[in-house]
Amino acid sequence: MELLLSELVSRNRHWTNFGNVATYIPELKNANKDALGIVVVDIEGNIYKAGDYETKFTIQSISKPITLMLALMDYGPDHVFEKVGMEPTGDPFNSMRKLETINPSRPLNPMINAGAIAVASIIRGKDNEEKMDRILQLFRKISKNPNLNINENVYLSEKKTGDRNRAMAYFLRDVGIIEGDVEAILDLYFKQCSIEVTCEDIAHIGMFLANHGVIKETGEQYVPKNITQIVKTFMVTCGMYDASGEFAIQVGVPAKSGVGGGIMCAVPNRMGIGVVGPALDKKGNSIAGVKVLESLSKELALSIF
Ligand code: GLN
Repeated sequence: MELLLSELVSRNRHWTNFGNVATYIPELKNANKDALGIVVVDIEGNIYKAGDYETKFTIQSISKPITLMLALMDYGPDHVFEKVGMEPTGDPFNSMRKLETINPSRPLNPMINAGAIAVASIIRGKDNEEKMDRILQLFRKISKNPNLNINENVYLSEKKTGDRNRAMAYFLRDVGIIEGDVEAILDLYFKQCSIEVTCEDIAHIGMFLANHGVIKETGEQYVPKNITQIVKTFMVTCGMYDASGEFAIQVGVPAKSGVGGGIMCAVPNRMGIGVVGPALDKKGNSIAGVKVLESLSKELALSIF
C-alpha cells in the first residue's frame, strides 16, 4: 500500500504547479504550495504514509462535520435542523447571497461558513473556554492525537480579517438563527478552523467516521451511529462545496476539504484518508489532493456508488 501511495503522489505531484494557496486569511500565505502528502488508516489500524505527510496545516472547514457531530449530540437533529438546512447550495463556501432569499431564512447546510457559524453558536458550555475545550476534546479523541491545538497566528489572522463571516453572523442574529454575543460565536468558529493537524490526524478522524463512530481499539460507541451517518451524508452532498457533485463522480467517497489544503475522506467500513496539498482551485479545494484521491479511488475501487 505504501508503495502505491508513493507512486500516486509522484504521478500527481505536477498538479501542485496549478492553483494557489489561500490568501484571504493572510497567514495562510505561508503554506508550502509544493507540498503533497497522504496518509491512509485502514480498518485494521494499519497506517500508510507517503509524500509530504508531515506537513502541518490548519483544519479549516474540515472542522465543520466534527462540530456538527457535537451539536447533534448536544441537541439532537430536530433542534439543529431548525438552525441549519440539509441542502447543497451550488454556491461558494463563503457565499451570503441565498441567506436572504430563501424562506425560512437560515443557512442551507452546515458545511458552508454561514451554517458552521450557526452550529458554533449552539455548542454547549458555560463560556467560550469551556466550549473550545469540548471541541478540542472531541478532536483529540477521534484523531488519536492528545496534543492537537490551535495555531494562534492563523486564528488571529482570520479573526482580524474575517469580515465576510462577521457580516453573515450579524445577519444570522438579525433573523433569529443565532442568539447572544456574535463576536464570541465568531471567536469560537475562528478557533475551531485554526486547529493545526497533519494528514494522519484527519485520516484517523475519517476512519472513525468510516467505522460509524466506534473507537476501534476499545469498541466504544463514542458518537451515535445515526449522527455519523448524517455527517457522512453531508460530506457527500456538500463536503467539497460547489464541486461536491463532480467529486462524487470522480472519487465517490464522503469527503471534506478545507482552505488549509487538507481533504479528509471516510470510506465506509474500509479506511480513513488524509491528504494535504495547499495549492487550491477557485472553489477552495486542493487541486493535487483531489487528483491523488481520484487515482487512489480508481486503483482500490473506493467509490461507494
Ligand atoms: N475559516 C475559513 C473561513 O471561514 C474556512 C473556510 C474553508 O476552509 N473553506 O473562510
